[in-house]
Amino acid sequence: MRIALVEPSRTVQRIVTGIIEPWGHEVRTFMDAPEALACLRAERNICVLITSAELASTSGVKLVSDARSLAGAQRPLYIVLMSSSDQRSKMVEALENGADDFISKPPEPEELRARLRAAERITSMQAELITMATVDSLTGLLTRRAFVAAAEHMLQRAAAGRHFSVFLCDLDKFKAINDTHGHEAGDVVLKKVSQELRMLDLPAGRLGGEEIGLLMDGHLDDAIDLAEQFRQTVSGLTIRAAGEVIGVTCSIGAAEWEPGDTLDTLLRRADAALYEAKRSGRNRVVAADSFALADEHKRWRGVTRASSRTDA
Ligand code: GH3
Ligand code: MG
Ligand code: MG
Repeated sequence: MRIALVEPSRTVQRIVTGIIEPWGHEVRTFMDAPEALACLRAERNICVLITSAELASTSGVKLVSDARSLAGAQRPLYIVLMSSSDQRSKMVEALENGADDFISKPPEPEELRARLRAAERITSMQAELITMATVDSLTGLLTRRAFVAAAEHMLQRAAAGRHFSVFLCDLDKFKAINDTHGHEAGDVVLKKVSQELRMLDLPAGRLGGEEIGLLMDGHLDDAIDLAEQFRQTVSGLTIRAAGEVIGVTCSIGAAEWEPGDTLDTLLRRADAALYEAKRSGRNRVVAADSFALADEHKRWRGVTRASSRTDA
């Protein structure tokens, strides 16, 4: 594991590092809270923080609390407060502020070893849960919930002046692919299309079934160009599954964030454009607001709302 150790005394730093490193862990040492927090922010693979209760600029408990907020629910971080006093009140305060464990200073080697084993068990389980919640297992794209979180983040930046566009893509006549070649072959097609989307290296998610979304910084024109390239890539794919070569096309609706848009209204416009792409013949890209909204555009299920369908 990669461990951050925050301790003002070089002697104690050396003692603790000398205990931990031979067990194969990598230790980063810091004298004080600000540089430790900066490093936690920059290095997302640090999964254990051991901090002394007494620091120069702040208390160890304050660092515990800041590190806990920084990690939030997106990142595994096991936090241990290390104190030379064995005051129960200090231990309770640390736990209340987001610590997972408490150890005396300097730590007893076997005790520290056992506590780090617990840290390893818990952080690897947390990492697995985070992956399950954020990465769709079939396609490797973001789950709907992670896509919405990424979109909300980009929306905030759009409100601060950045251009933000989105496209929604739905495979054409996918049911017929399943019916003709079997569900497993359908899965192979979906995986292959998703793999092409992932290669664009932009936030992209599976919103349900065979509907996928992509988020990007940029104008509507940029989104349309990218969507058109992607449409051509998909229609040019030759996918081998169930002993056959299967072709597939997709329809895409694109929209750009406008002042006053919520994520819901932005995605509604992209979905209306997708609907228009389907209605006008499929295998095409349609820009939001480039057409009269069809009265029959009733299929919107609400990407940001709870859905009764399986959360992909
Ligand atoms: P359209 O061009 O109008 O989009 O036609 P379509 O057949 O693609 O549309 P529809 O939404 O009616 O059907 C989508 C199909 O996708 C139905 C469902 O069986 C299939 N599907 C959804 N999720 C998966 C999946 O994970 N794997 C496979 N193989 N099929 C899926
Ligand atoms: Mg479809
Ligand atoms: Mg669909």
